[in-house]
Amino acid sequence: MTDTNPCQRAFDEELLSGYIDGELSQGERQRIEVHLAECASCRTLQESMRAVRDAARSTAFAVPTDEQWRETARTLPGRWSRQLGWLFVILCAAAGAGILLWEAAASPEPWWVKVTVFGVLGGVGLLFASVLMDRLHDRRHDRYRRVHK
Ligand SMILES: [Zn+2]
Repeated sequence: MTDTNPCQRAFDEELLSGYIDGELSQGERQRIEVHLAECASCRTLQESMRAVRDAARSTAFAVPTDEQWRETARTLPGRWSRQLGWLFVILCAAAGAGILLWEAAASPEPWWVKVTVFGVLGGVGLLFASVLMDRLHDRRHDRYRRVHK
Protein backbone atom coordinates (compact mmCIF):
# COMPACT_ATOMS: atom_id res chain seq x y z
CA MET A 1 0.00 0.00 0.00
CA THR A 2 1.78 3.15 -1.23
CA ASP A 3 1.21 6.65 0.09
CA THR A 4 -0.42 8.23 -2.97
CA ASN A 5 -2.72 5.49 -4.30
CA PRO A 6 -5.36 5.46 -1.53
CA CYS A 7 -5.47 9.27 -1.69
CA GLN A 8 -6.06 9.33 -5.43
CA ARG A 9 -8.79 6.73 -5.00
CA ALA A 10 -10.47 8.90 -2.41
CA PHE A 11 -10.35 12.18 -4.38
CA ASP A 12 -8.20 14.26 -6.70
CA GLU A 13 -7.01 17.83 -6.22
CA GLU A 14 -9.93 19.27 -8.12
CA LEU A 15 -12.32 17.64 -5.68
CA LEU A 16 -10.21 18.91 -2.79
CA SER A 17 -10.37 22.51 -4.04
CA GLY A 18 -14.11 22.06 -4.43
CA TYR A 19 -14.17 20.90 -0.81
CA ILE A 20 -12.20 24.01 0.28
CA ASP A 21 -14.60 26.26 -1.61
CA GLY A 22 -17.59 24.42 -0.14
CA GLU A 23 -18.93 23.39 -3.56
CA LEU A 24 -19.28 19.64 -3.03
CA SER A 25 -22.28 17.48 -2.33
CA GLN A 26 -22.65 16.09 1.16
CA GLY A 27 -21.52 12.63 0.06
CA GLU A 28 -18.34 13.92 -1.55
CA ARG A 29 -17.62 16.12 1.44
CA GLN A 30 -18.00 13.27 3.90
CA ARG A 31 -15.74 11.05 1.79
CA ILE A 32 -13.01 13.70 1.90
CA GLU A 33 -13.46 14.40 5.60
CA VAL A 34 -13.15 10.69 6.41
CA HIS A 35 -9.93 10.54 4.39
CA LEU A 36 -8.50 13.77 5.81
CA ALA A 37 -9.10 12.46 9.33
CA GLU A 38 -6.77 9.53 8.74
CA CYS A 39 -4.28 10.97 6.17
CA ALA A 40 -1.77 13.56 7.34
CA SER A 41 -0.33 14.24 3.85
CA CYS A 42 -3.76 15.10 2.45
CA ARG A 43 -4.46 17.30 5.48
CA THR A 44 -1.21 19.15 4.70
CA LEU A 45 -2.17 19.42 1.04
CA GLN A 46 -5.60 20.69 1.96
CA GLU A 47 -4.15 23.27 4.36
CA SER A 48 -1.64 24.59 1.82
CA MET A 49 -4.34 24.81 -0.85
CA ARG A 50 -6.51 26.73 1.57
CA ALA A 51 -3.60 29.07 2.38
CA VAL A 52 -2.93 29.71 -1.33
CA ARG A 53 -6.59 30.42 -1.93
CA ASP A 54 -6.80 32.81 1.03
CA ALA A 55 -3.63 34.59 -0.12
CA ALA A 56 -5.03 34.95 -3.63
CA ARG A 57 -8.26 36.36 -2.23
CA SER A 58 -6.58 38.88 0.07
CA THR A 59 -4.16 40.15 -2.62
CA ALA A 60 -7.08 40.54 -5.04
CA PHE A 61 -8.10 43.54 -2.96
CA ALA A 62 -4.63 45.10 -3.02
CA VAL A 63 -4.14 44.69 -6.78
CA PRO A 64 -5.47 47.72 -8.70
CA THR A 65 -8.69 47.21 -10.57
CA ASP A 66 -8.77 47.38 -14.38
CA GLU A 67 -10.22 50.86 -14.04
CA GLN A 68 -7.26 52.01 -11.93
CA TRP A 69 -4.73 50.44 -14.34
CA ARG A 70 -6.35 52.27 -17.25
CA GLU A 71 -6.28 55.51 -15.29
CA THR A 72 -2.58 55.10 -14.55
CA ALA A 73 -1.72 54.15 -18.12
CA ARG A 74 -3.63 57.08 -19.54
CA THR A 75 -2.35 59.83 -17.27
CA LEU A 76 1.26 58.85 -16.54
CA PRO A 77 2.73 59.40 -20.05
CA GLY A 78 0.69 62.55 -20.41
CA ARG A 79 1.99 63.89 -17.13
CA TRP A 80 5.57 62.97 -17.98
CA SER A 81 5.55 64.49 -21.46
CA ARG A 82 3.92 67.63 -20.10
CA GLN A 83 6.58 68.02 -17.43
CA LEU A 84 9.38 67.22 -19.89
CA GLY A 85 7.94 69.73 -22.35
CA TRP A 86 7.91 72.44 -19.70
CA LEU A 87 11.42 71.55 -18.63
CA PHE A 88 12.69 71.89 -22.23
CA VAL A 89 10.91 75.18 -22.78
CA ILE A 90 12.24 76.62 -19.53
CA LEU A 91 15.80 75.40 -20.12
CA CYS A 92 15.89 76.71 -23.70
CA ALA A 93 14.34 80.03 -22.73
CA ALA A 94 16.78 80.43 -19.86
CA ALA A 95 19.74 79.55 -22.08
CA GLY A 96 18.58 81.91 -24.82
CA ALA A 97 17.94 84.72 -22.33
CA GLY A 98 21.33 84.17 -20.72
CA ILE A 99 23.14 84.32 -24.08
CA LEU A 100 21.20 87.43 -25.12
CA LEU A 101 21.94 89.17 -21.81
CA TRP A 102 25.62 88.24 -22.09
CA GLU A 103 25.76 89.52 -25.66
CA ALA A 104 23.93 92.73 -24.73
CA ALA A 105 26.12 93.39 -21.72
CA ALA A 106 29.33 92.73 -23.69
CA SER A 107 28.26 94.55 -26.85
CA PRO A 108 29.37 98.07 -27.66
CA GLU A 109 25.74 99.10 -28.22
CA PRO A 110 24.48 102.31 -26.61
CA TRP A 111 22.93 101.98 -23.12
CA TRP A 112 19.31 102.31 -24.37
CA VAL A 113 19.71 99.18 -26.54
CA LYS A 114 20.88 97.26 -23.48
CA VAL A 115 17.98 98.63 -21.40
CA THR A 116 15.55 97.56 -24.14
CA VAL A 117 16.98 94.02 -24.30
CA PHE A 118 16.98 93.68 -20.51
CA GLY A 119 13.48 95.10 -20.28
CA VAL A 120 12.03 92.82 -22.98
CA LEU A 121 13.73 89.74 -21.58
CA GLY A 122 12.71 90.65 -18.05
CA GLY A 123 9.09 91.13 -19.14
CA VAL A 124 9.04 87.84 -21.04
CA GLY A 125 10.60 86.13 -18.05
CA LEU A 126 7.91 87.51 -15.73
CA LEU A 127 5.14 86.45 -18.13
CA PHE A 128 6.73 83.02 -18.28
CA ALA A 129 6.88 82.78 -14.52
CA SER A 130 3.21 83.76 -14.18
CA VAL A 131 2.12 81.15 -16.75
CA LEU A 132 4.25 78.55 -14.99
CA MET A 133 2.73 79.38 -11.61
CA ASP A 134 -0.76 79.13 -13.11
CA ARG A 135 0.17 75.73 -14.51
CA LEU A 136 1.44 74.51 -11.16
CA HIS A 137 -1.69 75.80 -9.48
CA ASP A 138 -3.92 74.04 -12.05
CA ARG A 139 -2.08 70.78 -11.52
CA ARG A 140 -2.55 70.91 -7.77
CA HIS A 141 -6.19 71.76 -8.34
CA ASP A 142 -6.62 68.80 -10.71
CA ARG A 143 -5.11 66.46 -8.18
CA TYR A 144 -7.45 67.57 -5.42
CA ARG A 145 -10.43 67.22 -7.72
CA ARG A 146 -9.37 63.69 -8.66
CA VAL A 147 -9.03 62.68 -5.02
CA HIS A 148 -12.48 64.04 -4.13
CA LYS A 149 -14.20 62.39 -7.08
ZN1 LIG B 1 -4.42 11.14 1.59
